[in-house]
Amino acid sequence: HERLVGSEMCIRDRIKDENETLELIMEAIQKSGHSGKIDIALDVAASEFYDPKTGKYNLSQKLGKTDRVMTSDQLTDLYATLAEKYPIKSIEDPFDQDDFDSYTKMTARLGKKIQIVGDDLLVTNPKRVKTGIEKKLVNALLLKVNQIGSVTESIEASNMSQQAGWGVMVSHRSGETEDNFIGDLVVGLGTGEIKSGAPCRSDRLAKYNQILRIEESLGSKAVYAGSNFRDTSKLL
Ligand code: MG
Repeated sequence: HERLVGSEMCIRDRIKDENETLELIMEAIQKSGHSGKIDIALDVAASEFYDPKTGKYNLSQKLGKTDRVMTSDQLTDLYATLAEKYPIKSIEDPFDQDDFDSYTKMTARLGKKIQIVGDDLLVTNPKRVKTGIEKKLVNALLLKVNQIGSVTESIEASNMSQQAGWGVMVSHRSGETEDNFIGDLVVGLGTGEIKSGAPCRSDRLAKYNQILRIEESLGSKAVYAGSNFRDTSKLL
């Protein structure tokens, strides 16, 4: 999503719908010789196409059109279908940040099969995380240190989430610097998952390089979470 914004019009013209996008990704996985080794995580950022007046989601490709307007139940059906068809393991912000009921319903329905991540929903705020745990809104936190503002609060949000059995995905922000602190943070918290964009551009590579350096210094003590990324306690 973040990478597409700059050329939004061009992408909208060239790609018909989410199936075509996922087919392209599957083709890239296959052609690069990684079939069966790569799973897919979506960041839907659904607040961007939610209409608070109607309570519905507009998935139309053309701006200003309403040919694909869905209720949250229809949108959940779509996610379920996509997760059957493609190796989707994680979906971030599938609904508007205040559409709590839809989150609770989707997590109850699909939460065993896929990870449902709250970013805009939880904003790394321990108070929102507490509500999220009580209402069973999601089963994973997207952790952005500079969203909440302090390392202390980030660790608190991460600990709360892990104690509730949630996953924690440590994340960069789009358009950031070469600061590689989140590489250390994700290893220190032992959460097993990081989101730092495609391995292009120095700001993103800096995080992956830091993780490689940490792996080197840990030697045989380093464990790659792989498909156990949702439950790293299995690895220790
Ligand atoms: Mg997001």
